[in-house]
Amino acid sequence: MKNADLMARDLAHIWHPCTQMKDHENLPLVPVRSARGVWLEDFDGNRYIDGISSWWVNLFGHANPYITKQLSEQAATLEHVLLAGFTHEPAVRLAERLCDVTPGSLNRVFFADNGSSAVEVALKMSYHAHLNQGENRPLFLSLTNSYHGETIGALSVGDVGLYKETYKPILIRSIQTPVPEDRSTEAAERAAVALETILKVQSREISAMIVEPLVQCAGSMHMYHPRYLTLAKRLCETYGVHFIADEIAVGFGRTGTMFACEQADIVPDFICLSKGLTGGYMPLAAVVTTDEIYSRFYCDYLEYKAFLHSHSYTGNPLGCSCANAVLDIFESENVIEKNREKIEWMKALLAPFESLPNVKEVRQQGMIAAVELQGYAPETRVNLKIFEYCLKRGVFIRPLGPVLYFMPPYVITKDEMTKMVETAYDAVKSL
Ligand SMILES: *Cc1c(COP(=O)(O)O)cnc(C)c1O
Repeated sequence: MKNADLMARDLAHIWHPCTQMKDHENLPLVPVRSARGVWLEDFDGNRYIDGISSWWVNLFGHANPYITKQLSEQAATLEHVLLAGFTHEPAVRLAERLCDVTPGSLNRVFFADNGSSAVEVALKMSYHAHLNQGENRPLFLSLTNSYHGETIGALSVGDVGLYKETYKPILIRSIQTPVPEDRSTEAAERAAVALETILKVQSREISAMIVEPLVQCAGSMHMYHPRYLTLAKRLCETYGVHFIADEIAVGFGRTGTMFACEQADIVPDFICLSKGLTGGYMPLAAVVTTDEIYSRFYCDYLEYKAFLHSHSYTGNPLGCSCANAVLDIFESENVIEKNREKIEWMKALLAPFESLPNVKEVRQQGMIAAVELQGYAPETRVNLKIFEYCLKRGVFIRPLGPVLYFMPPYVITKDEMTKMVETAYDAVKSL
């Protein structure tokens, strides 16, 4: 089979995500035949470094031997059983371990099967927890420039116009408070003042505040200081509003610590996890919350306070086995510690971008790095130019408008990282 054959069959039937399909009249799809480590290989034998971990999900490389083994053993033992009235060992073990690794006293796990669903779960749980105490709070609070997924509830609390604008008339109610405009503590403190102004007036209508801790990934990799999280969590506590940490993108070591919340030393009321949770193997998500929230739903059946949210594949054993394998690797290979060196390589490799005239800012938070360009109007589609330049040279990156970024799997070697960043540098220089 050839790339071209599969592409033609694909375009006859598949409607791709996040895509204007007409672009593919000129822009070739990349049919991937196989993948190993950081490398994707197509049907014509070309190889590409997966510089964005296949939309931020992959942690320990494609076809990771250990995760693959655990997954296949699980598939041969128990592929799936419903999680209502039944349970299984992979889910139990994963729940124990998630409670253990997440910050503070988070002690209750609710499973879902993708990031957006995890956000829906957290929003509904927060609203319902207040309601079970006799308070109706129909509003949610989030940051400007935020992204929390694209199902209706998750989209409603997001603030990326490109995804949201069209659906405004059918969204649930949310308000936005300004995200700190840069990484300084001053910006963090100013944003916290703005937050308090909102809470002072509206806190009794607000169920929860939801944030992407430290990095707004889909919001062009905007980064802010941990001080904001500390202040915002404290304010939410004071005003009786739940705090939801959406660590779907930043969890599992991306920001340099296992969870981004650790850097602000906060314990949220809910933490949403997905993406890296299974190392990029299976769709799975989890919302981890406190005993206190859990207890608000715990009563006799006929009081009708139970949380009746369900997905067919809730707690799927294959997904749970991959997540357990991922946590095994974190434990046995000291990943967070070892990534420190890779974070330093990345920092050094990024330095040359600083002197290019079309570069506005270079920023990095742990294993996430971004280069923001300046002087390109949206019509120039500079992101596509960079994408195509790099792809031809064996590197896959997918800039967000004028912001190109790197979020590679942690198994990337120094040579591979060098090739990835230097190729992108050449692309920016050639513009
Ligand atoms: C990707 C993402 C989501 C949505 O997850 P999906 O699995 O794509 O539905 C939610 N929040 C954040 C911060 C994300 O990056």
